[in-house]
Amino acid sequence: MFCPFCAIASAIPPSPSPALFTSLKGSAYPVLSTPTVIAFLDIAPLSPGHVLLCPRRHVEKASWMTGAEAAALGFWLPVLGRAVIGALGKKTEGASWNVIQANGTEAGQTVPHSHFHVIPRLGEGDGKARDASEIGDAERKNIALGEGPRVKLEDGEGRRLMELIKEKVKVEVKEMKSRGEVGSEGEEGLFVKFGDSGLKL
Ligand SMILES: [Zn+2]
Repeated sequence: MFCPFCAIASAIPPSPSPALFTSLKGSAYPVLSTPTVIAFLDIAPLSPGHVLLCPRRHVEKASWMTGAEAAALGFWLPVLGRAVIGALGKKTEGASWNVIQANGTEAGQTVPHSHFHVIPRLGEGDGKARDASEIGDAERKNIALGEGPRVKLEDGEGRRLMELIKEKVKVEVKEMKSRGEVGSEGEEGLFVKFGDSGLKL
């Protein structure tokens, strides 16, 4: 069965600077791509900067994740939260944001590849915020790569946010390194050295 998130994961290899993926079915705007996880912009954002973080491997529910996958997701959630807020020109302190995740149809899961929504809630500054209750089931069902929900991420905006968030993720990793929060050696397969850039993701 076609899985949009597997399609994205297979099209976007691990990289400190993952590239835009375009196909006849639509575009994917990655902001983070490691051997274990991938994060990209939601194509029907509840607010600008709304991203999805998921394990690269097809895992339907959080209960099916390995310890390494769960650790990687837990590691990246706060990093992405800070990066998204920073990319929107706000300070992390005082900024509001959600992490939302659903397991199974009855819980509201629509794409059967486990994913965490990271949603900035910056209030009046974000302009286009929508409440989750405003998004109907039918629209949610269309939130698959290439199918057009009513409020779709505009391509120019997607490219712009993708670059901004991607850069902020790099800054966050650098700062964590300088604080001694991440080592130079691999940890649980999370960190992979890329060339001489010195950046480990
Ligand atoms: Zn999948």
